[in-house]
Amino acid sequence: MGGKSERPAEESVAVIGHDELTAGTQRLARERERMVEEQLVARGVADARVLAAMRRIPRHRFVEEALRDRAYGDHPLPIGDGQTISQPFIVGRMTELLALGGREKVLEIGTGSGYQAAVLAELAARVCTIERIPKLASRARLVLEELGYRNVWVRVANGTLGWPDEAPFDRILVAAGGPSVPPPLFEQLAEGGRMVMPVGEVTGQVLKVIDKVHGEMRTSEHAACVFVKLVGKYAWEG
Ligand code: SAH
Repeated sequence: MGGKSERPAEESVAVIGHDELTAGTQRLARERERMVEEQLVARGVADARVLAAMRRIPRHRFVEEALRDRAYGDHPLPIGDGQTISQPFIVGRMTELLALGGREKVLEIGTGSGYQAAVLAELAARVCTIERIPKLASRARLVLEELGYRNVWVRVANGTLGWPDEAPFDRILVAAGGPSVPPPLFEQLAEGGRMVMPVGEVTGQVLKVIDKVHGEMRTSEHAACVFVKLVGKYAWEG
């Protein structure tokens, strides 16, 4: 990530002055630290790289101004169009389950605010992320660019079909809940690769980890969760 993440826009420098800005930045950093300790570490997220990334990334930049005070709270938040930025714990848990070493090419379905993509971008080599709602995709693209990420590609499309031109992927993270694993996604997963996806009903799902071993699915189940709907072919109707 570039060093400019918390640099304020110039007009705010003029309006509120340097000391207040520094105080505000420090307060957000403290809130972020508390989020990591109380919501992640205390609940068993242990991957040091995941924790470090979530300590660094200015999550408040991914929500609209009016909600920034709540950006580090223990809940999802609305991001427009009936969609949400996931709860910090879920982002931490899903990312940890992906077991990233740093060299992977990752596909994310459901860019939303772009926050999860930023976490992935810090921990993997390349991130391809797909969002079906154009407005969300352009806002996410802008924030990711402002924060200096150069290894994230945002595309507007139906993510249940994957991103065939960029396949195979070492890891796939689906950030919306569906009834089952869309076949194109499993096809686009590299041999030895891993996918994390909430699978179940519209009202509630289970976080599944799907490994591709000799072309076969090996599945394990983790936390119960509630995600917004994965919409499209092989998933729910919009
Ligand atoms: N990862 C996001 C949270 C995503 S919420 C974040 O960090 O903020 C789920 C997102 O999935 C929503 O933005 C929704 O529009 C999107 N979505 C649902 N079905 C989709 C599909 N088939 N293809 C692409 N995006 C989809």
